[in-house]
Amino acid sequence: MKSTKVIESTAIKTREEKALDEAFMLRAYELAQQAEKINEIPVGAVVVANGKIIGEGFNQSITLNDPSAHAEMLAIKQAGQALQNYRMLDCTLYVTLEPCPMCAGLLIHSRIKRLVFGASDLKTGAAGSAFDLVEHEKHNHKIEVEQGVLAEQCSSLLSAFFKRRRLEIKEKKKALKAQQNTNTR
Ligand SMILES: [Zn+2]
Repeated sequence: MKSTKVIESTAIKTREEKALDEAFMLRAYELAQQAEKINEIPVGAVVVANGKIIGEGFNQSITLNDPSAHAEMLAIKQAGQALQNYRMLDCTLYVTLEPCPMCAGLLIHSRIKRLVFGASDLKTGAAGSAFDLVEHEKHNHKIEVEQGVLAEQCSSLLSAFFKRRRLEIKEKKKALKAQQNTNTR
């Protein structure tokens, strides 16, 4: 049922619409790269109204000591200030990774019109992968969802990050062990 819906929406999308979606996703990707630079999980998001970016964000939970500082959260907060409104009625949120349950809730509260995401998050994604909170039938507000825009690019940024982090942890453990060995000698 869901897959046919996705196919329909891609089929009616014009070439210009597709190019626009990719351009905004590319900006979200650049923001994700900024998160990576400060060792945060590389996720970036932008909010677009009338073809213009009005809010940007990237993951900063560790930096800000704030578990809610996800890319979507920061982008929507900024958009709210730009609009001077707590509703984002005609806006689209572009995010490099499928939103988590917290951000899915935020999208409903913000009354955002459309969600476009890059990579799917099979573990915690709340737009259909692990939970289906964005398009849940119990919500009065319906959000149009589109997935897979620049998906490969967005997901390789994430997997490279996790790979690097695993290596760093391994190296640290190794160094610690070596130190312990010299201490006991
Ligand atoms: Zn989130």
